[in-house]
Order: sequence, then C-alpha cells, then structure tokens
Amino acid sequence: MEFLEASETASPEEHRAHQESRLRELIRHAYGTVPYYRDVMDERGLKPTDIGSIEDLSKLPVLTKDDVRRAGDRLVSHSFNPKELRTAWTSATSESPLPVRWDRSVALMNHASYMRMRRWAGVPFGRPYATMQGTPVVPISQSKPPFWRHNPLWNQVLFSAISLSDESLPHYVRKIRECKAEMLETYPSCAYVMARFLEAKGEYLPLTCVITTGEPLFPNERAVMEERFQAPVFDAYGQAERVIFSSECEKHDGHHIFPEYGITEFLDGDGNDVPAGEFGLMIGTSLHNLAMPFIRYACGDIASRSDKICSCGRTLPMLGGLTRRAGDILVTPDGRMVPPIMVTWIVKFLEGVTNWQVVQESPEELLVLVVRDEPVRESELEGIRGYVSRRLGPEVRVRVELVPEIPRVGRGKSRHVLSRVPLVWGVPNRSSEPARLGGAP
Ligand SMILES: [Zn+2]
Repeated sequence: MEFLEASETASPEEHRAHQESRLRELIRHAYGTVPYYRDVMDERGLKPTDIGSIEDLSKLPVLTKDDVRRAGDRLVSHSFNPKELRTAWTSATSESPLPVRWDRSVALMNHASYMRMRRWAGVPFGRPYATMQGTPVVPISQSKPPFWRHNPLWNQVLFSAISLSDESLPHYVRKIRECKAEMLETYPSCAYVMARFLEAKGEYLPLTCVITTGEPLFPNERAVMEERFQAPVFDAYGQAERVIFSSECEKHDGHHIFPEYGITEFLDGDGNDVPAGEFGLMIGTSLHNLAMPFIRYACGDIASRSDKICSCGRTLPMLGGLTRRAGDILVTPDGRMVPPIMVTWIVKFLEGVTNWQVVQESPEELLVLVVRDEPVRESELEGIRGYVSRRLGPEVRVRVELVPEIPRVGRGKSRHVLSRVPLVWGVPNRSSEPARLGGAP
C-alpha cells in the first residue's frame, strides 16, 4: 500500500523501469519453472535475456483462452506447493471459464490495488464498509434477516447479492445504517436495484462513496445511485486472471490503469499496437502471479488507451473507453432481483462453447442458448440445473437449446443475459430501454 501510494506521482520512466524489472524476473521464472513457457520460448529460439523491455514482449505470442485451456497444468509453475495456491475461475465472456491459480503475491497486490482505489474514494482501510459480491453469504431459502455476515478484521459487512427483494431490502438498508458503512462495494446492478428501491420509498442512504465492478456501469444508472446514496460512484475494472486493474479517481474522468499491477497492451486483430484513442483487444501481463504466469493474455475485453493526463495530478496512465458485456437483472418467482454476473457462471458447466445467452421471458423459466457442435450431456444439464436452483430458486425450470448463432440485440451489441421481466417498483429491465445504453462505448 505504501509503495502504491508513493508510485502515484512517479514519472513515466520510473513506472517503466519498475515494470521492466518485474518483467525480467517473470520471464526468467517462467522459462525456468513453467513447462508451457519453456516450450514457447524454445520453439522461437528465445532465451530469458532476449526479453528485457516492454517492446521485447512482442517476441512472445498472445496467450488466448484456448491456449490456457490446452496448456492446463503446464501453465502452472512447479516451484510452488499446489496446496498453497488459491483457485479462481476466468470470467465467462464468450467461452467456458477456466481455473486460474493465484499465489500469495498476486493476492496481496490485488488487495493493495483495491485499497488504493478505496483511499481515492475517501474510505481508507479500517473504515466500516459493506460488500455485496459473488460470495454466497446466505442460502436463498432464507427469507428473514440476517442476509449478511461480519468480517471484523476488515471492518466489513458482507451482504448476499442474490437476496435483494422488496421484502428484504428494508433490512439491508437498516443494516447498512446500523453498521455505519461509509462505502458500498458491489456490482452496478445491485447498487442500482438498491437505489431504485430507495427512490420508490422516497428515502436516501447517505454514504461516502459507492464502488462498482464486474459489470458495465450505465450513465443513467450511475445518476440514480449518486442521487439516492448522495455519494459519488467510483467504477473499477479487474478480472480473475489478475492481469489488468483500473479504476476511476475522484475526478471521474475515465479509468487510471495501475501500471504496478501489470503491463497493458492494446492490439488489433493482426497483433499490431493500436494508437491512442482507438479501440483494441486488451492484452495484459501480470507482474505478480508467478504461480501461473499470464504473459500477453487476451482477457476478452475491448478498450482504448488515452494520452490524456488526469487533472488529479497522478501520473498513472488512462483508459479511453472500456467495453464490458451488458446483461439484464434477473427476477425470480419469489421477487428477488439477481445480478446478471451470477448466471453467467453457469457456462462453466459446458465445455467448448463458442457463444451463449441466457434468456428470461418469465420468472419461472430460464432458456440457455448454446452455440456448440456437440449436444448437451445430461451431466452438464444437471450441473446447470443445480446451479440455477441454488441462485434463482428450485422452482425455476431450465431449458438448454443448441442454436447456430446468438441473435444480437439493439446496436449490434451482444448480451449474455437478456430478461424481459420488469423489476418491481414499475422499473423496466435494461434491455427494454435501449436508449439507456447510449453512454456505453
Ligand atoms: Zn485521476
């Protein structure tokens, strides 16, 4: 945390020197202990000393999700005790998620990066805050509070992100007031549902800030949140692969990229750098995960770099635009509103999927469209049904259909989660209002 604080005003040359010194260490380590990279470099006649600068990185191929799938354990360093590593799953963009192994160093860097962002947002470590993210805090069968658990070490209260309903929300609001939370850290969809609830009741829940991550943040939804929480919203971006981290500062003029976290490149389809201001594939190299090095990893999101220097005075580089897949909020038969990111994970039960979409026409039924050559196996269906049952409820029927392609909605954007069920309080779901997406890149 001290390093990140000091580094915010370092010169671009100092950022580069730090990145390249970590990069050289990473390459030496990958060549020496990661079978996949030993092969990749040997095939190209490369020695670790051939990759000493950011420009030298282009001697190595881009690492795709397919490469990661094929490489399997050959991407994991044999210098670690597997029992000491944590396992996470890649985000479900277009294909089925893959396991990612993290070591202690990357876990620390990720925490420190979050803490930097919270400090920018005015809530430094130690101040009380509320989190509502992927952790299934309480079972959905639970209809009475508490929908939360305390983490006293961090002065944090963890709330369930899948139990938000007109009946449960008053308890959420009461608890957030009671624990004097200064910050709410959650998915945009959850903060939006809470803000709409407050609006319907004519109430406000003043905080110091709201931090959103994991899904796109729409400008009109940000406005509703800022009004009801009487606080600025800070948007952040990261991924399980831990290659790129970015976040807004108090100027809210785009995301700062954290150069201490990883090296970020923006490439066109042929692998060439795209100039500032133009959209390209975001390619990230983690400078901290030695357990499973991701070098030049195509994380699946599209963004542009900006030459702009932020008026906050920090020297950290800026993102121009950033696109993330949009999704609607799912509504369950018992009236809960579930963030789309929760159901995108069902695709981890399906192998070799090229595209997919979850469609909700009514709260009682979920249709999963899958583009794949092979038919869906009974074991996969069971996995999906079990997952949906635990998140949306046992009464929800699931149908899986193979389709040749996924239909696009409005402005050619693809959507992984499409719901035609309106939220309560007379609020239509997102895709029913195409104009809402106007501000998204
Ligand atoms: Zn700034």
